[in-house]
Order: sequence, then C-alpha cells, then structure tokens
Amino acid sequence: MPASLFSWYGTRELGALGERGSVLSGEIELNRFNRLTGLLHSDAGSVTATMRFRQERGGWLIIDMEYETTVQLVCQRCLEPLDYHVRDRVEMALLETPSLESHVPEGYEPLVLDEDRLMPAMLLEDELIISLPIVPRHARPEGCGDPAEALDET
Ligand SMILES: [Zn+2]
Repeated sequence: MPASLFSWYGTRELGALGERGSVLSGEIELNRFNRLTGLLHSDAGSVTATMRFRQERGGWLIIDMEYETTVQLVCQRCLEPLDYHVRDRVEMALLETPSLESHVPEGYEPLVLDEDRLMPAMLLEDELIISLPIVPRHARPEGCGDPAEALDET
C-alpha cells in the first residue's frame, strides 16, 4: 500500500512535486474508500492509479491522473450485480483561488484545494465517484438476470 497517496500535501509541497516532475503510483484496495464503497454493491477489488505532477508554462501546476478499476454496481434493470470497468485519465490544473477558474488552460479540469492541502487518494476517490454511471445497467438486456426476464413476460 503506497503511503504517499494517503499523505497530505500543502501547496508548497505540491509545487515541489511539480518542479521535480514527481510520479505517485500504486494500487489501493477499494475498501479504503468509504464514500465510494457506499455507492457500490461490494467493496471487493482495487484500483491502480498513477499521478504525474508537472509545472506548466505560466506557472500552472498540472496533475495528470490515470486510473483503472472494476467495481461492482447493482443493475437498475434486473437488480443483479454488475461489473463496471473504469479506465480514465484526467489532467487537472491546480488553482490557488476559485477566481482563477476562468484562466485555466484549455483541456484541463480546474482543481481548487480544500484548506490549501491535498490528499491524492481523496482526489482519486472523487474522480471514481464522478465516473460511476447514474443509472447502472447491464450493457444489453440479455446480460440481465432472471428478475427482468420475469418482468418482461408479464
Ligand atoms: Zn441487469
């Protein structure tokens, strides 16, 4: 378990990560994410993530985050468990104040720090939560379990 993903970084430390072009990566058990697992059918599994820090022209600190996992959701059509694969990459520009949001370079998501600090694992959890479908369903009705079939026949 990579401790560094669960450390708090202040703005100065984040700046240093950017200047050094640091990379934080690791595999985290999903059961460490309380907010996320509250939305899941099961907390089994893990997520692999890599965060690359860099300093962009104009002084922007960029966090380039890639992650991949398979989570278990509940299909809203048949109410059976559903494996949902997530693989995404997001590039975020760190803002010192929300008022800078309109200046964020194109292609980056604005990221405002809460109390001037950041825990990478928490940022990852936020992204995972956002990536979940609002109404999870098996991709095709044939993939659904018995309850839906029963429903169709009535
Ligand atoms: Zn289903």
